[in-house]
Amino acid sequence: MALDLSAVQASENVWKMAQRQLDDVAGLIGLNDSIHGYLREPKRVLEVSVPVRMDSGKFHMFKGYRVQHNMSRGPAKGGIRFHPDVTLDEVKALAMWMTWKCALVNIPFGGAKGGVICDPKSMSEQELENLTRRFTSEISVIIGPEKDIPAPDVYTTPQIMAWIMDTFSMQKGYSIPGVVTGKPLAVGGSLGRDKATARGCLYVTGEAMQTLGIPVYGARVAIQGFGNAGMYAAELMAEAGYKIVAVSDSRGGVANPKGLDIAGVVAHKKETGSVVGFTGGERIDNHDLLEYDCEVLVPAALEKVIARENAPRIRAKIVAEAANGPTLPEADKILHERGIMVLPDILANAGGVTVSYFEWVQDLQENFWEEDEINQRLRQKMTRAFKETYEQSQRHGIDMRRGAYAVAVSRVAEATRLRGLYP
Ligand code: GLU
Repeated sequence: MALDLSAVQASENVWKMAQRQLDDVAGLIGLNDSIHGYLREPKRVLEVSVPVRMDSGKFHMFKGYRVQHNMSRGPAKGGIRFHPDVTLDEVKALAMWMTWKCALVNIPFGGAKGGVICDPKSMSEQELENLTRRFTSEISVIIGPEKDIPAPDVYTTPQIMAWIMDTFSMQKGYSIPGVVTGKPLAVGGSLGRDKATARGCLYVTGEAMQTLGIPVYGARVAIQGFGNAGMYAAELMAEAGYKIVAVSDSRGGVANPKGLDIAGVVAHKKETGSVVGFTGGERIDNHDLLEYDCEVLVPAALEKVIARENAPRIRAKIVAEAANGPTLPEADKILHERGIMVLPDILANAGGVTVSYFEWVQDLQENFWEEDEINQRLRQKMTRAFKETYEQSQRHGIDMRRGAYAVAVSRVAEATRLRGLYP
């Protein structure tokens, strides 16, 4: 029986959840009270009204946000989300998670996030461009290659990044590719950035499989979400020998216990806009997908999909969070007690921002690397972050999320302490 989680999910505030995850680890790492209070709040919040000329000729007012959570370790970094359900609290939570994520993989960035309340699926290309350019212009007072560097997130694409780069550059009067990452290759993008989130997820899942002694070949994987993260995860994991048994997108999913033909699913998605209707499997809904029989579950869509109600029925041995914030704190506890290893978002999806960092470095140096080199450097960073996380979780007898937070928050706290308070 499919469980309707929407009421449960709506009542959970994602910003409170992010703060609680920080609070949960404060005692464990002996976090100084003053620094704890400092890290619980975002450094800067910008709310903008974005007037956009629609195809009808009329103006439509959109609302957008850019939140910078912390810059103690370097410029703020994080994506921009275009989605009808964007809220300020969500953007604040996502910004805080970016701070921990960048610290965990040890790249010299703080955390930020942006969001615009809009439904890109119902907008024309021209309307999307107008929206992107005006939003960029409105937030240009706080972004820049040394200040805050946006990137793709849910429903934003390399083309959108190119418009951001162009708008910012036109305002300043010269090309500034380092203001945004996830750009197309032709305007200073990096090889490997498109698949980086999925590749990072593949690497840490591989480490977890090895640690738990589960063979990769034929291991069954269910993936919720078929965008930037989920689609490439399906492709890369299938290539690596996993058996993808279920996939889904916002309209629903498709499952086959014998394994799905991923190239076929991708072609079907490109043709019809959804994985639903692919004939090589049975129809499945998004709630049932999470409980599907598999070794690895990859939530790669939105927040708060694993709650107290469905956590007892998750059958995977590893949950690799390609999405940001898919597991609520109560569910984390249940999964840990049940011996399921959760690879937390700040670890499992950190591959995206890691290659964003490589892109930024290449832009600043005007010197571009080969894809092999990028993937090798990515693997190094992901493997080290996995090992440090696992080591903390073993040492303190805690789950992997707290292990990752212990590493990440300690790094940010140390930078904050060393810099001291201005003035
Ligand atoms: N939006 C991605 C994330 O949540 C990537 C951010 C970036 O590359 O800056 O990690």
